[in-house]
Amino acid sequence: MTAAVIDGKAFAAKVRAQVAAHVAKLKEEQGLTPGLAVVLVGEDPASQVYVRNKGTQTVECGMASFEHKLPAETSEAELLALIARLNADPAVHGILVQLPLPKHLDSDLVINSIDPAKDVDGFHISNVGLLGTGQKSMVPCTPLGCLMMLRDHHGSLAGLNAVVVGRSNIVGKPMAQLLLGDSCTVTIAHSRTKDLAAVCRGADILVAAVGRPEMIPGDWVKPGATVIDVGINRIERDGKQKLVGDVHYASAALVAGAITPVPGGVGPMTIACLLANTLTACCRANGLAEPE
Ligand code: NDP
Repeated sequence: MTAAVIDGKAFAAKVRAQVAAHVAKLKEEQGLTPGLAVVLVGEDPASQVYVRNKGTQTVECGMASFEHKLPAETSEAELLALIARLNADPAVHGILVQLPLPKHLDSDLVINSIDPAKDVDGFHISNVGLLGTGQKSMVPCTPLGCLMMLRDHHGSLAGLNAVVVGRSNIVGKPMAQLLLGDSCTVTIAHSRTKDLAAVCRGADILVAAVGRPEMIPGDWVKPGATVIDVGINRIERDGKQKLVGDVHYASAALVAGAITPVPGGVGPMTIACLLANTLTACCRANGLAEPE
């Protein structure tokens, strides 16, 4: 039996269409246009691609996109001054600072200078705390996209054993919080975990967020499990550049009940959730009902 493929690309298109419909309604009924400001410091090629995609999709949804591209040698004071201006700008409802920042800039300080209400990446310490205590917050986009796909596939997640491989602040930890919030029994695994294969084999839901190409083989997957592959790894195979996940797709798909492909799984959902978060931030800022 081969696993059902969870089509993140199609799901993301549906989410973007819902966001666009809501944005059109906001414009017509309230005269409001949600705005997203994206700040890129330096010339990291992957970040440039992400920022371009975010800008294009923001505009396609009918929202305003403000791109701020700063040179790599930008000082912390200059960056903080820009964020202060964006915090005060009523046309900007969401602010995203593309990570990683150049090494001379303190990422924690920069992220924590964003108004939490505009922190559409959900990385501000206030949003982290709100999520951890089950309160209304801005939820990080990648884990939120994963949760939406899991809820869509399973309905209720209550009681399922979830294993998250990876404990980063941007994926692993918030993913684990969200799964706990949906009443999964959650294990967070990392580079020091003993017998990772056995831990993974206990998972009804296995989320891989490691950053190591095809590290998780099919025989680490419990038969029928749902596998969410967050990894995006660029490798060269047969003389060609290729994107692969953290899961060995071909062998895992023979065992899993459902699996996300790379590309076309988690990646498109991340940007769709960023747009949804920007819309939510706009509604909250104006005291309007939030989208479902
Ligand atoms: P980080 O490098 O910040 O974290 C990686 C985590 O994996 C760490 O917790 C690390 O453990 C753990 N790890 C590393 N090696 C092993 C190992 N051999 N066994 C078990 N655990 C291990 O990565 P991110 O969380 O930022 O990203 C993870 C992946 O997701 C990357 O491929 C990234 O490109 C992708 N990504 C995709 C997104 C999307 O939109 N689809 C968005 C964001 C990220 P330890 O803490 O012990 O070092």
